[in-house]
Amino acid sequence: MTRSWVPGADESLFGLDNLPYGVFSRPGEAPRVGVRVGDHVLDLAPVLHDEVFAAPSLNPFLARGRTAWRETRARLRTLLADENGHAGARGSAASTGGNRAVAEPRLIPLDQVTMHLPVEVADYVDFYASLEHASNLGRIFRPDDEPLKPNWRHLPVGYHGRAGTVVVSGTPIRRPCGQRMPGPSFGPSVRLDIEAELGFVVGTPTRLGERAGAFEDHVFGVTLLNDWSARDIQAWEYVPLGPFLGKSFATSISPWITPLEALEAARVPGREQDPAPLDYLRRNAPWGLDLTLRVDLNGETISTPSYRDMYWTPDQMLAHMTANGASLRTGDLFASGTVSSEGAFGSLIEMTWNGAEPIKLADGTTHAFLEDGDTVTIAATAPGGIGLGEVTGRIISATDSTYTATEC
Ligand code: CA
Repeated sequence: MTRSWVPGADESLFGLDNLPYGVFSRPGEAPRVGVRVGDHVLDLAPVLHDEVFAAPSLNPFLARGRTAWRETRARLRTLLADENGHAGARGSAASTGGNRAVAEPRLIPLDQVTMHLPVEVADYVDFYASLEHASNLGRIFRPDDEPLKPNWRHLPVGYHGRAGTVVVSGTPIRRPCGQRMPGPSFGPSVRLDIEAELGFVVGTPTRLGERAGAFEDHVFGVTLLNDWSARDIQAWEYVPLGPFLGKSFATSISPWITPLEALEAARVPGREQDPAPLDYLRRNAPWGLDLTLRVDLNGETISTPSYRDMYWTPDQMLAHMTANGASLRTGDLFASGTVSSEGAFGSLIEMTWNGAEPIKLADGTTHAFLEDGDTVTIAATAPGGIGLGEVTGRIISATDSTYTATEC
């Protein structure tokens, strides 16, 4: 591990091997790009003398492509490395001190900043890549059928979501209104749920008509994502075209995008697939990721699903998404689908078996779907002491007085 001179960074989940990017502001100042180190954010535009980081989103930097991402990361590691570390090994102690003198005045404690949506989301796609999750939902929604549809093992099933309602962690989530059964009737969802997922952020675009190349040439990094889901609205509307209003009211992401380069130690081959996928979906490199998620409900951990054994890996999702020549844009976001593993679920519908078996909390109470006032936080860690930050959101009532229309 390369050590940093930033206080507390080496002992945190945000040392020099991580360095996730986000968009921050201080009161009265414009939002701009920073990198997290320990409990600080480094203001990149003045440190790197590059106006691309003065933008209110990561998109202009993402559009520069992989060589620029790599060079910027290497430069930041040098700037932030301790004089006894390795990143600055070729320089003298004096030049390392010079690096510190450049960066230290631009280091801001996180408690002095507001974090913003890091990416201007272009298109948003959500997959369904966990065998456990897809099987469980099949059993719940279609109890008389095979849990998996015949296509599921042949292609990563996905749908296009609503890019404009992707919000940054901390944004309050209004309980959605919609059409529900029995009835149908129109009113507040009574089966509001979470989906703990990973989101992949695209930097390098493709031309219309072309397929994407290598995963790491297009995808910049990874974020945590909560795909809030109104199960009662979803169960009624989803036939035959898939999720719509039961999902589109809000999707929360972490304010931090962890570069793929920070996840080298997390890379694993990916779960064995049977049958072998068609050639265009064949894996060319190990893009399974050994990440462990943590789901907290009102401060209590209720599940720790593993991402490692997801059936479809993100390189396969990218290949599938562009197999028909659909172009990628900078800022595209595609999500893994709910991360559920053997015995550890990423949604309440699975944890409570559609509400029939409420979870027991430490204080002796039980809990099924989300109630007004509930707060859900999803975090994740990777090997090598890497944290993905957290995505959090609090449910507010459908009739909350902060809204103009205070009823459904
Ligand atoms: Ca989802």
